[in-house]
Amino acid sequence: MVGSLSRRIVVLCAILSVVLAVLAGLLLDASAQMRTSLRWVAHSSEVLETGSRALRHLQAAESGQRGFMLTQNPEFANSVADEVAAARRDAGGLVALTSDNPLQNVRARQVQSLIAQRTQALEETGSLARSGDFAGARDRVASGKGRYLMLLVNARMNDLLAAERTLAAERMDTVQARLDSIRWLVIFGTPISVITITFMATALIHRIRRPVDQMMAVMGQLGAGDRSARVTGRMDSNEFQRLAKGYNAMADELQAAVADQVTSAEQLHNANHELSRNAEVLRERGEVIELLGGMAHRMQAARTDDELAAIIRVFVPRVLPEIPGALYAHNNSRNLLVPIASWAGLEVETAGFAPDQCWALRRGQSHYVIEPGSDIVCAHVGGHTDHYHCEPLLAGGEVIGVLYLKGVVGAENRFRLTVLTENIASALVNHRLQRGLREQTIRDPLTGLFNRRYMEETLALEIARATRTGSPLSLVMCDVDHFKRFNDEFGHEAGDAVLHAVAAEMRARFRDGDVVCRFGGEEFTIIAPGSSAIVLAERVEMVRQAISELTVHQGGRMLGLTTMSFGIATWEENMERDGSTLIKAADAALYRAKRDGRNRVVLDGRSEVLAA
Ligand code: GH3
Ligand code: MG
Ligand code: MG
Repeated sequence: MVGSLSRRIVVLCAILSVVLAVLAGLLLDASAQMRTSLRWVAHSSEVLETGSRALRHLQAAESGQRGFMLTQNPEFANSVADEVAAARRDAGGLVALTSDNPLQNVRARQVQSLIAQRTQALEETGSLARSGDFAGARDRVASGKGRYLMLLVNARMNDLLAAERTLAAERMDTVQARLDSIRWLVIFGTPISVITITFMATALIHRIRRPVDQMMAVMGQLGAGDRSARVTGRMDSNEFQRLAKGYNAMADELQAAVADQVTSAEQLHNANHELSRNAEVLRERGEVIELLGGMAHRMQAARTDDELAAIIRVFVPRVLPEIPGALYAHNNSRNLLVPIASWAGLEVETAGFAPDQCWALRRGQSHYVIEPGSDIVCAHVGGHTDHYHCEPLLAGGEVIGVLYLKGVVGAENRFRLTVLTENIASALVNHRLQRGLREQTIRDPLTGLFNRRYMEETLALEIARATRTGSPLSLVMCDVDHFKRFNDEFGHEAGDAVLHAVAAEMRARFRDGDVVCRFGGEEFTIIAPGSSAIVLAERVEMVRQAISELTVHQGGRMLGLTTMSFGIATWEENMERDGSTLIKAADAALYRAKRDGRNRVVLDGRSEVLAA
């Protein structure tokens, strides 16, 4: 049962107090009784003393009387009176002393009366003797009355004293009994008190020590790091139960606080980890961005598709290492994805593919197959691989190209891929724009052929190359015959239509490597690198033939036949490096063709006309 420890202490103290009070009461009572008994004993001894003294005074008075009678010395007579008075006084005292005891009092009064009679007899005898009547006095003594009275006094007195002695003895017994009870009280009371105190103290100590031990053990566990340790056992008292409850609440608080601290520390650790991971990601991204910045910068400066391809071949494997791939650019006019560059050993078909052969382009988002059967395979991939990635290159909703990667791009490389794609897309757009701008500066808008400026630049470059490599270089100057007539007869627009048709024919007929330019008006120049004049003349002849068979229509009208005259010259070491001499030579040949009747090909330095 759990109760209040303080109440228990109060109860135990009360019991102890009661025991001690009872013991003290008993002792006090016993001592009071003993004092009374002793008083009675003293009283009895006083009675005995007074009685004995009365007898002694009476006997002394008798012997004084006898001495006076025998010696007739009056000095004896004087003492008799004192002894008589003393005997009477003691007899009175005896009566007074025994007033509490009727029996003894009766005896005392008898004794007093007898003493009074005896003393009176002594006085009478004494007065006879003092008057000189010693004989009368002796007669009285001899009558034996005095002796008889004395015997009675002695007998009465002995009765009284004997009775008093019996009383005294009884009173002593009472005193003895009182003393015995005190002794027993001490003999039993002391050990009972000691046992009671010991028992109570032990019970109290036990009730205090057990919970204290328990709490100390739990505190020890807590101190050793076991924060889940709680006081669960019986506490035996409200006070310790409250203490244990308070302690448990404190331990709960502590555990919660420590748990909070641990959680905070973990969160901090995780945040730190996350931060350093993010820092690492940022650092890596920074590197990628820097790398791609470098790539974008170079791509912006690239002039030709070859330069662009070279840049891509260098940078893409650095951004996405160990993944072979190829970059396809969208050719608007042909609506084809044509390969610009490939890397890491990937070989691609130069023919390219149509946009709808690629799921990435069809859906406008990444398309990848990471294992066979996990997704549909693009037609342009065919059976080349069972895991690949196609990333569309888009700008403003328009297809710019596609990045094909023969491999899987992991989540860690997603950012790289995204930034790479954006960079390449914008670089391709830029390159296309630049090329468009450049085209505008080097093309003749009417015919779509290269303009004279471009012709002069290219000619200088080709002369330098021919000088370096020793390969032949030829130049054609040509002019539409009687062109003025078209203008005059059909109007300026008709003239333009003729120029357009002639230019298209020439562009289609000359080799890819030949640079067909509009020199000005209705005059054209063709730079033919790697061709000697003779070989070139055959092709020019075919062109002349084709043009002479052209029928140009404009505004629903047929404009009539068109012919052209051609002059051909070949580069020679002694000519000017800027091409002016070569142009002049070809022009001279053209002049000769005109002069010789037009619609013909004339080779510089030769007198004969090749064809007419
Ligand atoms: P020839 O056979 O001697 O070359 O006679 P031609 O009439 O062709 O020569 P000419 O130099 O007398 O005439 C050239 C004309 O071409 C003069 C010019 O008005 C015309 N012309 C020059 N440029 C253009 C052009 O861009 N469009 C049109 N429609 N006409 C042009
Ligand atoms: Mg002309
Ligand atoms: Mg002309």
